[in-house]
Amino acid sequence: MSERGVFIETFGCQMNLADTEVVLARLAEQGWRTVPTSAEADLVLFNTCAVRDHAEHKVRSRLGVLREEKKARPGMKIGIMGCMAQREKEALVRQFPHVDLVVGTDQFVRMPQLVAELDRQEHVVATDFGDFEAESWSALRTEGVNAWVPVMRGCNYNCTYCVVPMTRGREKSRPPQQVEDEVRRLVDEGFVQVTLLGQTVDSYGKTLGDGTTLASLLRRLHAIPGLRRIRFVTSHPKDITDELLETMRDHPKVARHLHVPAQSGSDRILRLMSRRYTRDEYLRFVERARTFMPDVELLSDFIVGFPRESDEDFAATVSLMDEVRFHGSYTFMYSERPRTPSANLPDDIPDAVKKARCNHLLDLQLTHQEAYHTAMHGRTVQVLVEGPSKSDPEMLHGRSEGNLNVVLPRRGADGAVREDLVGRIVPVRIERSTSLTLFGSQT
Ligand code: SF4
Repeated sequence: MSERGVFIETFGCQMNLADTEVVLARLAEQGWRTVPTSAEADLVLFNTCAVRDHAEHKVRSRLGVLREEKKARPGMKIGIMGCMAQREKEALVRQFPHVDLVVGTDQFVRMPQLVAELDRQEHVVATDFGDFEAESWSALRTEGVNAWVPVMRGCNYNCTYCVVPMTRGREKSRPPQQVEDEVRRLVDEGFVQVTLLGQTVDSYGKTLGDGTTLASLLRRLHAIPGLRRIRFVTSHPKDITDELLETMRDHPKVARHLHVPAQSGSDRILRLMSRRYTRDEYLRFVERARTFMPDVELLSDFIVGFPRESDEDFAATVSLMDEVRFHGSYTFMYSERPRTPSANLPDDIPDAVKKARCNHLLDLQLTHQEAYHTAMHGRTVQVLVEGPSKSDPEMLHGRSEGNLNVVLPRRGADGAVREDLVGRIVPVRIERSTSLTLFGSQT
């Protein structure tokens, strides 16, 4: 077997990080080792994101730099995988002739074979949908507390601003036995938490046609000894069933945390986005979730500056945030993506207005978080300790059941460093907070 080096840079979401782990596993089986820089690599891969313009720009600029590197080392191969590869296909090779390999979102598990084809042909472009090999999802992971586990791919919604249906195709779910086997292996390797991934993870199982649901998968995984916590992202409000909420409530290993993007609080904009729910329906989902689990932590995404978003539409988003008081949210400024339905609408909100609306939501979110965190002073939360804090090596960092950031002392009362806490769930009494972090001590 060859002993060649691969360098891979990953852009975008957790799903892309998980795909990178799968590619590294497939290449490692063929003798490839991961190297830390492109300068040491025989193969340089970019795992790309097409959701926002900004991420594509970064890849284009990296490719510009590599053009020179390849002149000096013509044997080096360059590949683009992920959403940008799926969307642009051969056009990428035309635009960047020094790119050797373009690999789509259903083809990357075949990376070793595709690289081998480069011995016979100058460029390889593999972007077909449909022959994704479900057996090859096992991944090469670095050590840690949490492992990302993709349970489905693609999306059957067609939100008008989104490239995912184009770049990742129709929804398909992994069989539950395969997911369970992988999670059991992960627990044997020392992982204590898994995060199940899907574009609309709460619709997991629909395409299997045998009654499997995300709730039934969670119950199955809950029974695995040694697994301490299970998370799942991202959910669509229409697919959150009572069965799922009940399962979360009744199974303590399932984190009481739901990431369910609202995107807007205006019915007019939700219609233009084709989100398939109204503001009222979203609020009813929040009410249902809080009826089952009064302490559930809710996270949302918002897009500001969508075409035709008026001041009244934006005010409706602000009022939705005020009404729900999310525990966290991400706000993005609308950026037009070619060939999506919303690209037919004029991108008519000036950048300065988009920025002002974005800052408004960010400030509002921090205000809500600060109040929520202050109300937690004196309470005890169950924290999964992940490792040393990045900003202070004397402290440990972990996550509450709901996914809040919690920091606690690394040394016990006797002054000894408590490395044994990493990977354990410990009760932490909250003593103080900022809008982003809770600080406390183990009780
Ligand atoms: S549900 Fe999510 S992934 Fe699917 S089209 Fe809408 S925004 Fe994109």
